[in-house]
Amino acid sequence: MEINVIDLRSDTVTLPTAEMIEVIGKAKLGDDVYRDDETVNQLEKMAAELMGKEAALFVPSGTMGNLLAVITHTAPGQEVILEEDCHIYLYEVAGIARLAGVQAKPIKGIDGVMPLDKIKGAIRGENIHFPETGLICLENSHNMSGGTVVSLEKMKDIYDLAKAQGIPLHLDGARIFNAALALSVEAKEIAQYCDSLMFCLSKGLSAPIGSMLAGTRDFIERARKNRKMLGGGMRQVGVLAAPGIVALQQWQQWLPKDHENARLLARDLNTIKGVQVDVGKVHTNIINADFYGTGKTVSFLLNQMKDQGIWANGKNERMIRFVTHRGIEEQDIVDTIKILKDIIEES
Ligand SMILES: *Cc1c(COP(=O)(O)O)cnc(C)c1O
Repeated sequence: MEINVIDLRSDTVTLPTAEMIEVIGKAKLGDDVYRDDETVNQLEKMAAELMGKEAALFVPSGTMGNLLAVITHTAPGQEVILEEDCHIYLYEVAGIARLAGVQAKPIKGIDGVMPLDKIKGAIRGENIHFPETGLICLENSHNMSGGTVVSLEKMKDIYDLAKAQGIPLHLDGARIFNAALALSVEAKEIAQYCDSLMFCLSKGLSAPIGSMLAGTRDFIERARKNRKMLGGGMRQVGVLAAPGIVALQQWQQWLPKDHENARLLARDLNTIKGVQVDVGKVHTNIINADFYGTGKTVSFLLNQMKDQGIWANGKNERMIRFVTHRGIEEQDIVDTIKILKDIIEES
């Protein structure tokens, strides 16, 4: 018997839409290192405009976009202030230490937001022993906190502090459109409170590959050279930019549904004995659910779920993370809850 897989591991698993596949074959191509790829140029212009920045750069991954931001903003030996559960610190293979040569200064956040006074306290003063603070990084929405959103007020407060201190601010906006949707604002209203930002085309936006880095023209020029250094100078990459353009034009057709499905899943998870989700913190498409009260281990649950076609990722010994995306329908949520109930309440 073939089982139907409901893949709630990540929104990175989204497959391209039929239109995205179609435009790949029609894209006008050229050598993008010579800036001859019209499709890439169009995508970069579009991304810059959407973010209210002067320029943007197409990069193969969000990880490279963040690394380029750190390399381009800082000098080796400087310190970077970031939230201790942020993606750059936890999941980017220490690239900023190894390749940018900077030291991370992680700060514990509340729902992914570093308290302003803690950031203030972490900024280095003049002292022969100290490294210089070279950059502050934020993440919105915040992946590890369960897709929670940082308010515009908090973004502004932190950006004002950074500016007053002459320190650049980079935003890891991998899911900035999810954040914008949750805040009912345009992405550029979030992006106004940073000097540079990265966002992913390949997550909920459903393009197959790629992310964008946006900032001032001068910053993006320098990042472009650094991208070449990292081996990220690509040639006829319009084949990837074309679906990216479709993603930027059409994400509003499906992203709201991802958030609705996440709220639905969160609500219904709470109806299962021993499972707890803080529904108020489900701002976007990520749910962190606590299974401790079921008396079953996360590895047991994940194995049982996998056998029945429900795929998710464990966060720690008690939490499982679920992510909704374009490949998940309302019926999948219903089926997931039914199967989880069977596993937890029957066994
Ligand atoms: C996915 C993600 C990234 C990295 O993107 P990749 O394309 O997987 O390298 C960066 N930051 C956050 C918050 C993410 O969720």
